[in-house]
Amino acid sequence: MSVTREKVLAALEGVYLPEGGPSLVRSGRLSDIVIADGKVTFSIAITPKEVMTLEVTRAAAEKAVEALRGVEQAVVMLTAERSTSPTPQRAKLSTRPTSIPDVRHIIAVASGKGGVGKSTTAANLAVALSSLGLKVGVLDADIYGPSMPRIFGITGKPRLLTGRILEPMEAFGLKVMSIGFLVDPEAAMIWRGPMVISAITQMLREVAWGELDILVVDMPPGTGDAQLTLAQQTPLSGAVIVSTPQDLALIDARRGVAMFRKVEVPILGVLENMSTFVCPSCGHRSDIFGHGGARDEAEKLEVPFLGEIPLSMPIRETSDSGKPIAAMEPDGTLAQAYRLAAQSVWGQLESTTQRPAPRIILE
Ligand code: ADP
Repeated sequence: MSVTREKVLAALEGVYLPEGGPSLVRSGRLSDIVIADGKVTFSIAITPKEVMTLEVTRAAAEKAVEALRGVEQAVVMLTAERSTSPTPQRAKLSTRPTSIPDVRHIIAVASGKGGVGKSTTAANLAVALSSLGLKVGVLDADIYGPSMPRIFGITGKPRLLTGRILEPMEAFGLKVMSIGFLVDPEAAMIWRGPMVISAITQMLREVAWGELDILVVDMPPGTGDAQLTLAQQTPLSGAVIVSTPQDLALIDARRGVAMFRKVEVPILGVLENMSTFVCPSCGHRSDIFGHGGARDEAEKLEVPFLGEIPLSMPIRETSDSGKPIAAMEPDGTLAQAYRLAAQSVWGQLESTTQRPAPRIILE
């Protein structure tokens, strides 16, 4: 039997706000209800002070909806509008999110804007990290345009293990989770910032990643509020910024660097994608989008430069057909370029970890 909005609202009739408050349905605090594949998602608007008191209502709402026939999972979030005062925001910046058990490092692959090849780079970088002998996971957090199912050629849905925990999908020896496996992309398109954050947090924390050396997070493109919150709420060890060489893209890349610096996430480096084009028939080199811009920018920003990935037909063809080039031609020059970037990233992560960590020693 299919779940409808009316049935969800009827199930919520018996859920009340605390201390003699109105029913949740009548309170005017409910967001749109998104129903997709047996999963029901909505949020309850609160003021920041109500987080503790309304947790009971949130949990009761989840339980009531999960009791409906046809509902596999209900995800109810408390969402508070952002405060306009800068003080709480700054206070929040200094608190570090809790880490994920058994996951040694989480890194973000980000870009100031869409279309620069961020997802392709994230996927190939993950394959390259795995070729170094590391256990690698990929979390596709590009919620409005999830591309990991396509890049890795994964179809089907993740299995629900105990409770709310999902089993990640696997491809090329990597564990992969993407919102693309879970909801219709059109459902995710209408999600507002808090729902996006909550969905990503769930994919991060309610997936049986197992033991991983590194989890690569393909971030949503851009440097808006959602990206900033995500950068802040994910226990990141560092971030890689992908940029094409044009000036315009580099301005966005600079914004990306600034965003991670704001939340004190180390920049592991800038990687230039769609760099020089080498003609496959005559070998002539053309710098279609310019060349070297990202290297200069990295120098200016005093962050490492992770290398240049050429604009190449095989990259486009393989990433659009579910066979990332770094896995298909592991001895080729392209795989090697990704491997160099991977080595630099891993080297930086490990050298930071090996520095004395007072927090750990004190504990
Ligand atoms: P983003 O995640 O930044 O939106 P994608 O990784 O989805 O970008 O890439 C956009 C398009 O560009 C895809 O069709 C992809 O195959 C292609 N692409 C990415 N990097 C390269 C490259 N180095 N050479 C050729 N095509 C590329």
